[in-house]
Amino acid sequence: MKYIGAHVSASGGVENAPLNAQAIGASAFALFTKNQRQWQARPLSRESIQAFRENLERVGIAAAHVLPHDSYLINLGHPDNDALEKSRNAFIDEMQRCEQLGLQLLNFHPGSHLNRISEEESLTRVAESINLALKQTSGVIAVIENTAGQGSNLGYRFEHLAAIIDLVEDKSRVGVCLDTCHTFSAGYDLRTPEACDQTFGAFAEIIGFDYLRGMHLNDSKPDLGARVDRHESLGKGKLGWEVFRYIMNDPRFDDIPMVLETIDDTLWPEEIRHLYALQH
Ligand SMILES: [Zn+2]
Ligand SMILES: [Zn+2]
Repeated sequence: MKYIGAHVSASGGVENAPLNAQAIGASAFALFTKNQRQWQARPLSRESIQAFRENLERVGIAAAHVLPHDSYLINLGHPDNDALEKSRNAFIDEMQRCEQLGLQLLNFHPGSHLNRISEEESLTRVAESINLALKQTSGVIAVIENTAGQGSNLGYRFEHLAAIIDLVEDKSRVGVCLDTCHTFSAGYDLRTPEACDQTFGAFAEIIGFDYLRGMHLNDSKPDLGARVDRHESLGKGKLGWEVFRYIMNDPRFDDIPMVLETIDDTLWPEEIRHLYALQH
């Protein structure tokens, strides 16, 4: 089974996210459990947690198909020790919020070396950050997202993700989320079935589909290898529909949350219907 949704709004409280997902015909969704552009957040209230769990059950979406995304401020590979510590604490807080909501996944970008340490050193810091967070929480899987490789961002090569996973002590609690826009912009072609065979074949070899815990389904404004992170509505960018037809008909993408982060949210209901219609 394929589970598709979008990164929906949680404004007014996390408990609104399941309802927003239902309204667009989603069977999966992503959300921020706090304001993604601020460090500080009030703890989730008991009422909000209870209402979130009730609404999730009411709309019939499984906790396994919810893919929370952490704050954009967090950099788990930060070269500076004080800033790294601040990010690590914020990340643990994000994981704890997921635990409270009964969720099993937390999606995050690996981090940036800021041109002050090597990629390798920064990747080691990311892995250590994950190890620290896993020790202080239970049940939530750290889901590393691949990136477009903009600026000094890590995670644009499958080898980066593999290097992090390699250093994580509890392999049962680390996974990967592939963003189709980021993958393409990072230089992995996805425009034809043959290109998809090759790119996902490389993923299988370097990381392995056992680690795939989620997908972000986005078309791409930038061209192959541009290393710029700009999403586009499905079928309207440089990718086109082939990659989505491929994914919708490949059982390696079954049973994981697949989430739209496309730029026009009024198109989400139609994009979701269109994706299901691509299944043979
Ligand atoms: Zn992301
Ligand atoms: Zn992106």
